[in-house]
Amino acid sequence: MNYKKIVVAGSGVLGSQIAFQTAFKGYDVAVYDISDESIDQGKNRMMNLKVRYQQDLGATDEEVNLAYNRMSFHKDLSEAVTEADLVIEAVPEVEEIKKAFYQQLRQVAPEKTVFVTNSSTMLPSQFAEITGRPHKYLALHFANEIWLNNTAEIMKHPNTEKEVFEDVIEFAKSIGMVALPIQREQPGYILNSLLVPFLEAAQMLLVKKIADVETIDKTWMIATGAPKGPFAILDIVGINTAYNIANAKGEAGNEEFKKLANVLKSEYIDKGKLGTGTKQGFYSY
Ligand code: NAD
Repeated sequence: MNYKKIVVAGSGVLGSQIAFQTAFKGYDVAVYDISDESIDQGKNRMMNLKVRYQQDLGATDEEVNLAYNRMSFHKDLSEAVTEADLVIEAVPEVEEIKKAFYQQLRQVAPEKTVFVTNSSTMLPSQFAEITGRPHKYLALHFANEIWLNNTAEIMKHPNTEKEVFEDVIEFAKSIGMVALPIQREQPGYILNSLLVPFLEAAQMLLVKKIADVETIDKTWMIATGAPKGPFAILDIVGINTAYNIANAKGEAGNEEFKKLANVLKSEYIDKGKLGTGTKQGFYSY
């Protein structure tokens, strides 16, 4: 493997998981965040991950402690990126924050360092120039709870070097991910390009009163052998996220989505039915 020293920028929900998984697989990981407070929160997340790895994967005390001890924590970016082979950016999903981060990073990172973004909704070409090294920049997108849901969508932009793309694929495999190469830029990568229209189609059947939740899910599950139907998946995603997507399309003038957003709000969100997190959504848990 060409990469040895890995930096994870941002120790929030996903950054903490990426850093811990990478350390768990034997890499030295420098974790960068902006303040003592956010580093403390990141460390707390890692402590919780130690427990989850033991519960979910049967990891031993020794293994999770070793993983934790392979990480170092920094609020000085230049110190964090010394000797870095790869920087994984997992800072908030806000364009201006990401741009400001890359502006700073390009000034302190060694020339050899490859940068990847974990952004869920933005494209690497939005930031490629600002990184100062467009050919060494691409997306490496993980799913939440990466130790269980171990997909890594690796997506080029038009100027990503082939060798860099291949190295990142190898890196993803080396940390236990199923590497999913994406040859051209696509908003939503593969998963959300499939999932979002599928979930929307199901919700439209409901709003138009074609059939109820159980019937729609049952149809999908029995006919395709899938373990879950669209509404069970929506309960996991969270009704707020479904509402935000429908509402944005409604506000852009789509009448059907406006109706869907109203139903999600009045029938579910206003009644505290937000999905599995609240034990109630389309189903009760
Ligand atoms: P989060 O808000 O939980 O964490 C963001 C972290 O970045 C925080 O620790 C914050 O202190 C830190 N931060 C803020 N400004 C920073 C800066 N300038 N430099 C370095 N760190 C900074 O966010 P998250 O959910 O972990 O999302 C991070 C990225 O991962 C986003 O691009 C998001 O789209 C992507 N992602 C999230 C999920 C998810 O399920 N949460 C899944 C896949 C991808």
